[in-house]
This record gives sequence, structure tokens and C-alpha cells, in this order.
Amino acid sequence: MLEHLDLVGIGAGPSNLSVAALSAPIGRLRCKFLDRQPTQRWYPGLMLSAAVLQVSHLKDLVTLVDPTSRYTFLNFLARTGRLHRFASLHTPLIARREYESYLRWVSDQLDEVQFGCAVEEVTFDGQAFRVESTRGAYAAQHLSIGVGPRPYVPEVATGKLGEDVFHSSDFGYHTDSLAGRDVVVVGGGQSGAEVVEHLLQLSGRDAVGSLTWASRRIGFQPLDESPFTNEWFHPDYVRYFHGLSQSRRSQLLNAQQLASDGISKGLLESIYRRLYHNDFVDSDRIRTTLLPGREVTGLCRGPGGRGWRMSLTHIDTGEIDSVGADIVVLATGYHFPLPEFLHPLGGRIARTNCGLPQLAADYSVSWAGPAGNKMFFLNAGKLSHGIADPNLSLASWRAATVLNTITETPLYPDLRSSTCSWDVADHAATHPPVDSGVDLLTESSRP
Ligand SMILES: Cc1cc2nc3c(=O)[nH]c(=O)nc-3n(C[C@H](O)[C@H](O)[C@H](O)COP(=O)(O)OP(=O)(O)OC[C@H]3O[C@@H](n4cnc5c(N)ncnc54)[C@H](O)[C@@H]3O)c2cc1C
Repeated sequence: MLEHLDLVGIGAGPSNLSVAALSAPIGRLRCKFLDRQPTQRWYPGLMLSAAVLQVSHLKDLVTLVDPTSRYTFLNFLARTGRLHRFASLHTPLIARREYESYLRWVSDQLDEVQFGCAVEEVTFDGQAFRVESTRGAYAAQHLSIGVGPRPYVPEVATGKLGEDVFHSSDFGYHTDSLAGRDVVVVGGGQSGAEVVEHLLQLSGRDAVGSLTWASRRIGFQPLDESPFTNEWFHPDYVRYFHGLSQSRRSQLLNAQQLASDGISKGLLESIYRRLYHNDFVDSDRIRTTLLPGREVTGLCRGPGGRGWRMSLTHIDTGEIDSVGADIVVLATGYHFPLPEFLHPLGGRIARTNCGLPQLAADYSVSWAGPAGNKMFFLNAGKLSHGIADPNLSLASWRAATVLNTITETPLYPDLRSSTCSWDVADHAATHPPVDSGVDLLTESSRP
């Protein structure tokens, strides 16, 4: 006999854990959140000791929609006996390792969250979704899919992954084999910078032989965290963005790249300082080369089948650069393919012309099935909901949106969030025109 649930969440990373934490106090919802990892881990392959979270702790799993929740980061600090000391830290940044502890602390309190449970197939029986997992099957009225993005490997490197060519998400598993080796890091975003910083701090016997950092980007640029840019990470902007045409949304995403894909300023400064010390102060130097504006266009074995030879095409001039490497680290980002377990339903799911699920404002996908059975996609909506989607900033608001839809109740009411009036209707609603009888255009154009 199948257990019947209102909602099955697939994946229990921050996206679905937020749904779990916000659904717990509702009481009447029967939910399960299934994760294939043996326990709560957050990108274990890139959990470098110095890495810090790129957002404020207020953007935890719940605070922005329910600051009174027992699952806030502040309550975690209090319950684990560190609130006073955290307050004296005077830092807005928390370590990624501490954020992972917070996620584990929340998961441990929620019986609905189950680890060691991989979802293998989802079908639909006409009434409910049937979710097949390694620990049994469930029937669910709704699904919340939060399986995270997959590492993106450029075509030139496919089929070459292994001990000496790997994605940055696996970097932590290879740190013992780097001493004395010539390492090339590809990718000028945050992950690439974190790997480069880690390599630069290795010294003595642990030091790498040489370090090359190549990026397609025009330079090594900082994350834009200024306040008005941060308003692109507010619910008001997400709603506005969702209503635009697809072509306009793509243009905006290109223009906004540094708001989410830039490198933390402190990290850039630290790398720059380490490079200076390496070149002019330290006694044992390593050879470092920075190659911005280069796209990797070839990767083949070096002479005698040893090491690698990488071709890099200069994006400004089209010239070909070439570097040798023992180890290649691909900090080439992430993407969102439709998960394999959804393939039985793939033909019924509406997709954009780049293959992503077509999402309504409440993150449910349009699909050829009953309107009373919804599939929500969390963290797959950058093209539909904007740059905030792959980020932690709005995880709680997105989870609240999903729960409001499922319960058909505004459990977590949406309050105005922006300083800016993003669209004309909002401007008109918040600043009704004053019927003064004065023609403003004529008035303001008077000398
Ligand atoms: C290294 C790194 C650092 C980041 N740091 C920040 C940051 O500082 N600030 C910020 O705003 N954003 C950050 N992000 C972006 C984003 O916030 C994270 O990607 C975030 O973890 C997304 O949460 P998620 O739950 O959607 O996905 P994930 O965290 O990837 O979680 C998905 C979960 O789904 C599970 N799963 C997958 N397939 C199945 C299956 N078939 N069955 C069951 N379970 C499955 C996985 O085991 C995993 O636990 C970072 C991203 C990366 C890669």
C-alpha cells in the first residue's frame, strides 16, 4: 500500500529544506523530502576551509518570510551556544562550513526529511505522481523538484574527466595530488577564484609547480553587491521580470551577470595580495600566469601521452594561445538538465527553446496533466524568474510561494519589497496621479 502525501520534495538542499521548514508549522500538510546523499552535505567537493557564504545570514531558509520561525540561522546560533560570540564577530559573512552545519541542524529536526533515499523514477497514474525511490515508493499530489544544478563540463573536456581533469565541484577530493604539479584553472567566477586562492596558499612541499588561471571573461571582476543591484534579488523584481518577454529577459540576464556571477571583492583582494607576495616578497615562488579573455578550444594529451596541452582562443583577437598542464580544474559553472527520473514525464512538460521547464509565476511547470497536480521546479528558473533564482537570497520566498499555491491560502503574505517601482502599474498604484489640473509637461518645461 503506497503512502499518499500532499507533497514529495525531491532533493533536500537549501531550496527544498526551506519548503520543509516553512511547511512544518502548517501541520495539515503531509510531506516528505527525499535526498540521495547519506546525510546533509552542502557541496562537499568544494568545501574549502576559507570559503564564506556570499549572502547575509538573514537570507537563511526562513527569516525573510517568517522571522519568528524556530529554523532561523539566529536560533541555530542561540541553540548551539554561540550567539553572543557571533555577535562579537562583527562580520556579515559566515563560513560555508557553518552554513552547512545550520542546514544539518534544520534537517535533523524535521522527520519529513529523509537522507540516503535517491529518487529513480516519477510517473503519473492519472490521480497522483508515483515517486520511486531506493527506499520505496510514494504517491504524491504535488512534487517539488529541488535537485540542484549539475556541473557543466565544456565539450572539449567531455570524455577526458578523471584524476587529472575534473570539475571544480570535485576539487576537494583531489587536493592531495597537487604538489609540484602544473595546474591550469579554467573559469573566472567565484569557484575558479576559490580554487586559485587555495592553490596560492599552498607552500613548501605542498606548493604546486605552476599555476595558470584562464577565463573567457574580459577580466577577473567583482560581484556587484551594491544596494540597488541587490533589489534585483527582491520579490517585486522577480514578479516584474517574470512578466517580460523571453528575449528581454535574456538581455537583462546578460547585463546583470556580475550581480550573481562575479567574484567576492575580499577574495579578489586576497588573491591579488598573494600574487604580489609570490612575485616580490616570498622566497620560494611559483610560476603564475593569468589569462583573461581566453576560451578553451582544445584539450589533448601532451608529448609522449603525458600531461595535457590546452588550446585557448583569444576572444578579442582570435589568436591561439597554448599552455601545458599536469592537472586541469574546470571551474566552468553549472547547468540544469531535466533530471533523468522525470524522463517518463518529459514529453508532457512544456519547455523553453533552450530545454528548460516553462515555469509559471508560482514556479509550477505547465504540463499536460490535471491542474490539481503541480510540479514545482526550484532553482531551475533563472530564465523565467531572473538572476535571484540560482541564489540563496529568495529560497525562503520561493518556498513560501509554493506553499501558498498548494494550500490555496496566503499563509505567507507577500509584502512590498522594493524601493524602485519596476513597472508602470506599480508606479501608478503607489503614486496615484494628483489631479491638480496642472499640465505637468507644460509646467516642467517652463523656463
Ligand atoms: C560551491 C557553491 C557555493 C555556493 N554558494 C552560494 C552562496 O554563498 N550564496 C548564494 O546565494 N548561492 C550560492 N550558491 C548557489 C546556490 O545557492 C546553491 O547552488 C544552493 O545549494 C542551491 O540549492 P538547491 O537545494 O537548489 O540545490 P543543491 O544544494 O544542489 O541540493 C540539491 C539536493 O538534491 C539532491 N538530489 C539530486 N538528485 C536527487 C535524486 N535523484 N534523488 C534525491 N535527491 C537528489 C542532492 O543530493 C542535493 O542534496 C552556491 C553554489 C555552489 C555550487
